[in-house]
Amino acid sequence: MLKLRPVPFTDVRIQDSFWAPRRETNRVASIPFSLQQLEEAGNLEDMRLAARGATNGFRGPVFMDSDLYKALEAASYSLATHPDPALEKQLDDIISLLAAAQQSDGYLNSYYTVKEPGRRWTNLRDCHELYCAGHMFEAAVAHFQATGKKTFLNIATRYADYIDSVFGPPPKRLGYPGHPEIELALIKLWRATGNQRYFDLARFFVENRGRKFFATEHHTPLDRYDGSYWQDDVPIYDHRNIEGHAVRAAYLMSGVTDVASQTGDTRLLTMLGRVWRNTTQRNEYITGGIGPSASNEGFTVDYDLPNLTAYQETCATVALVQWSHRLALLYGDAAYADVVERGLYNGILSGVSQDGTRFFYVNPLESTGNHHRSPWFGCACCPPNVTRTLAFLGGYAYATSDDSLYVNLYIQGSARAKVGETPVALNVTTEYPWDGKVALELTPASSARFALRLRVPGWCERAAVAVNRETVPAPVIERGYLVLDREWKPADQVELDLPMPVQRVAANPQVKADQGLLAIQRGPIVYCLEQCDQAAPLASLWLPQEDPLNATREPGLLGGVVTITGEACSAPDPRWRRQLYQAAAPAQRVALKAIPYYAWDNRQPGPMKVWLPVSPPIQPARGLEAQAKVTLSFANDNCQPQGINDGLVPTSSGEQPAACCHWWPHKGTAEWAQYTWTTPVQVNNSKVYWFDDTGRGECRLPASWRIEYLDQGDWKPVAATEPYSVAKDKWCAVRFAPVKTTALRLEVQLPPHFAAGVHEWKVDEADEADPGP
Ligand SMILES: [Zn+2]
Repeated sequence: MLKLRPVPFTDVRIQDSFWAPRRETNRVASIPFSLQQLEEAGNLEDMRLAARGATNGFRGPVFMDSDLYKALEAASYSLATHPDPALEKQLDDIISLLAAAQQSDGYLNSYYTVKEPGRRWTNLRDCHELYCAGHMFEAAVAHFQATGKKTFLNIATRYADYIDSVFGPPPKRLGYPGHPEIELALIKLWRATGNQRYFDLARFFVENRGRKFFATEHHTPLDRYDGSYWQDDVPIYDHRNIEGHAVRAAYLMSGVTDVASQTGDTRLLTMLGRVWRNTTQRNEYITGGIGPSASNEGFTVDYDLPNLTAYQETCATVALVQWSHRLALLYGDAAYADVVERGLYNGILSGVSQDGTRFFYVNPLESTGNHHRSPWFGCACCPPNVTRTLAFLGGYAYATSDDSLYVNLYIQGSARAKVGETPVALNVTTEYPWDGKVALELTPASSARFALRLRVPGWCERAAVAVNRETVPAPVIERGYLVLDREWKPADQVELDLPMPVQRVAANPQVKADQGLLAIQRGPIVYCLEQCDQAAPLASLWLPQEDPLNATREPGLLGGVVTITGEACSAPDPRWRRQLYQAAAPAQRVALKAIPYYAWDNRQPGPMKVWLPVSPPIQPARGLEAQAKVTLSFANDNCQPQGINDGLVPTSSGEQPAACCHWWPHKGTAEWAQYTWTTPVQVNNSKVYWFDDTGRGECRLPASWRIEYLDQGDWKPVAATEPYSVAKDKWCAVRFAPVKTTALRLEVQLPPHFAAGVHEWKVDEADEADPGP
């Protein structure tokens, strides 16, 4: 463990053409807009109700306070780097309101105070008191750092002291939050105040997690309890994969990293390394986000990274960046900072519109044209998460140790840092992320020996560096940093060159959703195609592998971007390959233009894609099921029966399909799915790929199944010539004596206490060479 010190965001000045205008928009548009939305949505009014002692009239979800706190945190960061008396006064007024709403024992939560007085701490799993408290602590620390005032900090410490009087080792009570956040926030409060009890409480929440407390709290029998959604299924030390709700998982791991970096607990550190590698090597989108599935706002199985249905919540990208930043400080390895950069320039920045007043909650990598940013949300976690990240941005850029200055982000501007005992001023001149040339001027207070460590981004090959105009031959690279270890004197000049060719990027072949597709990336920026830039329909385009792609600076477009242009092929009709063999229709050459992914949906609405085919799309071979009408014994609003014969075969049962056919919430009952054809079909086989969402839902493998056919108005079982098998992650096939019929049923016995679902049910025409038994 190295344990670097971050250079505080207050010591970093950002003066470039990329981030500075966005941060100005954040300051003058997004932050005031958020505060106004919090007024309109009722977050502030709820707090006023609590302050008045009202017991009705509460509006919104249980976690309304958390969005207010995140906005206060963003506003505080903004005040620190850009004083604004009007904003400061507005914060003072809100802080007075919080003080008035705080109970005499320190407790402060508008939902419980107004709506459920007397029921504090009765539902830690779902009701988010500890989560809201965490966001309060983060905001209070930010406000204290920005203004030096203790008004908000005192409210936070009173509340933290109260929470500390409730939770802890016996005789205090066991518990931890359903939505982690307070762990990392208590660490911030400990650092700001020096009060060891806050660290100990964070450690208590971290180390006890996984004791299946939520099963006890909700009287769930342990044999039926799956706590993975809340990361409560195994002791914290035993996690192997990232799992469950994505924001919860990454906030938790951030808090665990904070605790472990202090205690040096090797069991926790080993777990963190394992889970971070699983997250970033198997579960991270190219745009830096995590959590593919809407159903649990989280993870499914490794390599399940669909594009059209990508959930990639903005908050989850923020959470992964926060966690990776902590690991970057712990180990001084550029791989962690690479993840920070990818998230900041792509998945987080896409979360806000160019004008700063519309936000994405869900960030898909493909759209048919109907996905747009909104001014606000009923669950408004994401907008203030983007605003606080932009306001804090400088805090991710630099770090120091006793003998090194680390540069993690290349942003034009300046910074003041202390390497060992030597104050160092740093000036950075660059057009990053559009150009990889970075000029750094170092001015130590007096000549001093230390290492300047410049991150070589993971996307970069052949980085070159010169010191005082002399090229450094074969520079030393350690843990992804280019190391310049020398005696530095005032006004020394360093020139770093990070070449930025346009790159075609392929996904790991295990990512089924990206097979046969490539994405375009240049430097840290991931690109997408929007329909409004293309001459042909986006769905018809494919990208030849070898043709040149050109980068062009367009200062007037989307706030100033580099676009990528070249030629694509346009297949006249993507369905032309439905037949087994057919002459290839000649593809037309058309112009292609790509824009940064973060900038999409700022012009006229239309389809969008990050991943592009490299050849004309081929449709999978389809059986009789493709022409069948589907009916189910039972279906509800979140069931999509058409998923059962949409031809999309998963790589595993746990994958979350775009259209999910299941019988949930029925459990333990006998159910069926039916295919009906308009003319009789001759069949002797069938196969089923079962859906099983263990870890996030209640579908499991069925207890049993069989096929029945319609015979003159009666349903009869087919004469199976082999047993009906039930297994995960593969086709379960059965052959039977041929029948001629207009309808088949898949009869399913749901397992006790659980539902079941089907990814795909295939029925092929009877093979004429097979006479049956
Ligand atoms: Zn969110």
